Amino acid sequence: MQRMWQNWARNQSMTPAAVEHPASVDEVSRVVKEAAAAGRHVKAIGSGHSFTGIGLTDGVLVQLDRLDRLVSADAATGRVVVQGGLPLHRLNALLTERGLSLTNMGDVDAQTVTGAISTGTHGTGRDSGALATQLLALELVLADGSVLTCSQEENPDVFAAARVSLGALGIVTSVTLQAEPTFLLRADERPMPMADVLDGFDEHVAGNEHFEFYWFPGTRTALTKRNNRATVAAPLGRVRALVEDELLANGLFGATCWAARHAPRAVPALNRLASRTMAPRTYTDTAPRVFTSPRRVRFVEMEYALPRERVVDVLRALQRLPEARGVSFPVEVRVAPADDVPLSTAYGRTSAYVAVHVYRGDPYETYFAAVEALMVEADGRPHWGKLHTLGAAQLRELYPRFDEYVALRNRLDPERRFTNPYLERVLGS
Ligand SMILES: Cc1cc2nc3c(=O)[nH]c(=O)nc-3n(C[C@H](O)[C@H](O)[C@H](O)COP(=O)(O)OP(=O)(O)OC[C@H]3O[C@@H](n4cnc5c(N)ncnc54)[C@H](O)[C@@H]3O)c2cc1C
Repeated sequence: MQRMWQNWARNQSMTPAAVEHPASVDEVSRVVKEAAAAGRHVKAIGSGHSFTGIGLTDGVLVQLDRLDRLVSADAATGRVVVQGGLPLHRLNALLTERGLSLTNMGDVDAQTVTGAISTGTHGTGRDSGALATQLLALELVLADGSVLTCSQEENPDVFAAARVSLGALGIVTSVTLQAEPTFLLRADERPMPMADVLDGFDEHVAGNEHFEFYWFPGTRTALTKRNNRATVAAPLGRVRALVEDELLANGLFGATCWAARHAPRAVPALNRLASRTMAPRTYTDTAPRVFTSPRRVRFVEMEYALPRERVVDVLRALQRLPEARGVSFPVEVRVAPADDVPLSTAYGRTSAYVAVHVYRGDPYETYFAAVEALMVEADGRPHWGKLHTLGAAQLRELYPRFDEYVALRNRLDPERRFTNPYLERVLGS
C-alpha cells in the first residue's frame, strides 16, 4: 500500500498505485511502457506547488528526484540544459556559479523547472514573460515510451504546445533554457494609496521592468514593488533580511492569519495594522534573491490573467466586493507581455494577473466565487495550477489555439495515459 501524497497547500491528495523514481530517460521510458501494459495512468509530479488537482493520479506517480542535474551551461550563448526534476532554487544557484541567470521568475523557487513550466508559472514583467517563454527545447517521453525532442526547428508543433503542456503530452525529461549573464536588480518597495496605484497603473508598469503590488482587502493602501536592473550591489544585511522577510513577512503575518481565524471581526483592523507597518525599503541584489522570497505561511490561491486594459476596472469592482471583507491575505497584481505559447495565460495579449489568497484551512469558496465572476466577465484566463472552476467549453473560447493543442494531444496520447480528472475537466476528455 502506497503512502498518501499531499500538495504544498494540503488541499489536494492522492494515493497512487505505485511510485517510481527513474534515474535515466530509459527508465522513464520503461515505467511508461509498463504502466501502459498494465492499463494504468502515469503522472510526473514536481514539488507539489499547484493548488489544483493537475498533478494527481490513481496510477503510477513518477518523481524525477533522481533526474535533477544541470547537464550543460554555455556561458557564451546562455544555453542551459537541465534534467526535468531540478528544483528552481538549485537551478538558480548553479546558474549563478556560472555567471548566468534566468531573465524573469515567479515569487518562489521551490518548484521543479518542469513543474513550473508545465502550468505557465510567471513572475511580473513589462518586457519579459513566463518561464515557458525562456524555453529553447524539450525532451519528452511519450505515451508509447518513445523519446521525442522538440524545438522551434525540430517537431515545432509539439514544441509550441509542450511549452505549457499541463503535463498532458508526456514526461519532460530535460529542458533547454535561454539564460543570460547574471544581473543585479534594485528593489524599491513602498506603500502607496491604492487609489494612486490604480490611477497611475499604466505609468507604473511602463516605468519599471518589473512592477507589482499587494493590496490588503478593506484597506486603502497597497505595497508596491519595483525591480529594475542596476550596477552596484547593496544587499539587505543578513539580520535585516531575517527580521523583515522571516519575522515580519512570514512570522508576524502567520500570527495575524491565525488571530484572524479566531477573531474574524478583527480582520479589517489587522489588515489596516499590517498595511501601516509596511515600511519603505530599497536594496540591490542578484536577480534570484530579488525575484523570490520564502513563503512559510500556507494558503490556497486563485489567479486570473486579464487583458491588461481591463484590470483597473476589475480591481475597483474587487474593492467593492462584500465577500473580500474579512480576508486576511493580500491580493497580488502582476503583469506580463503578450507571448506566443498556445496555452499560456498571456497568449496573444498583454496581460495583468490578479491573484487572491486565503489562509489554508479558512473557507475560500464564497470569496473565490465572487472574484472569479469578475474575472470571467473580463475574459480572464485562470492559472492552470491555481484554483478555478472553468471547464473545456469556456477555456476553448479563451484560447484561440485550444483545438490545435487538443488535436496534438489526441495524436500523442490517444489512450489518455497521462490524464486525470482535472485534465478531463479542462481539456474536455
Ligand atoms: C507558495 C507558492 C508560490 C507560488 N508562486 C507562483 C508565482 O509566483 N507565479 C506562478 O505563476 N505560480 C506560482 N505558484 C504556482 C506554481 O508555480 C505552479 O503551480 C507550478 O506548476 C508548481 O510547480 P511544481 O514543481 O510544484 O509542479 P507540480 O505542482 O508538482 O506539478 C504541476 C504540473 O506539472 C506536471 N509535471 C511536473 N513535472 C513534470 C514532468 N517532468 N513532465 C511532465 N509534466 C510534469 C505535473 O504532472 C502537473 O501537471 C506558486 C505556488 C505556491 C504554492
